[in-house]
Amino acid sequence: MSANAELALQSLRQAEVRITPPRRVVIEVLASQEHLTAPEVVEAVQKRAPAISRASVYRTLDLLTRLGICRIATMGLPIVRYTLTPTGNHHHLVCSNCLRAFEFDSCGLSALVPELEARTGFRISGHLLEAYGLCADCQQAESVTE
Ligand SMILES: [Zn+2]
Ligand SMILES: [Zn+2]
Ligand SMILES: [Zn+2]
Repeated sequence: MSANAELALQSLRQAEVRITPPRRVVIEVLASQEHLTAPEVVEAVQKRAPAISRASVYRTLDLLTRLGICRIATMGLPIVRYTLTPTGNHHHLVCSNCLRAFEFDSCGLSALVPELEARTGFRISGHLLEAYGLCADCQQAESVTE
């Protein structure tokens, strides 16, 4: 099992949530691939464990999202994609032209957390940040046609 899957299982234990077979398999699937849609997760789960129902996968995705073990990103399209967030945070640069998404590791947002929490009364557990713009390739293509 991957390190990210181990971290996710640890977070379930910390939240005192029982590790059932659907929860374990959904975590393994999300650890093996990022940015999966719910139907893709169902397909991959049922390949590993055909007895696990679609409804149970959806319930598990909801639970993991509520616990912050995975988060949902849209990556510029009206489609929800699930990604494990072992550090609590996840970052994308999304090109509004070619719709490719690029990952980046960290941002300065965590530095704002204490002030945000004080101002809003929230207890912040992490973030998913998507910045939109034009990728280097699309900028180049733009300047060629001008
Ligand atoms: Zn682009
Ligand atoms: Zn990502
Ligand atoms: Zn960040």
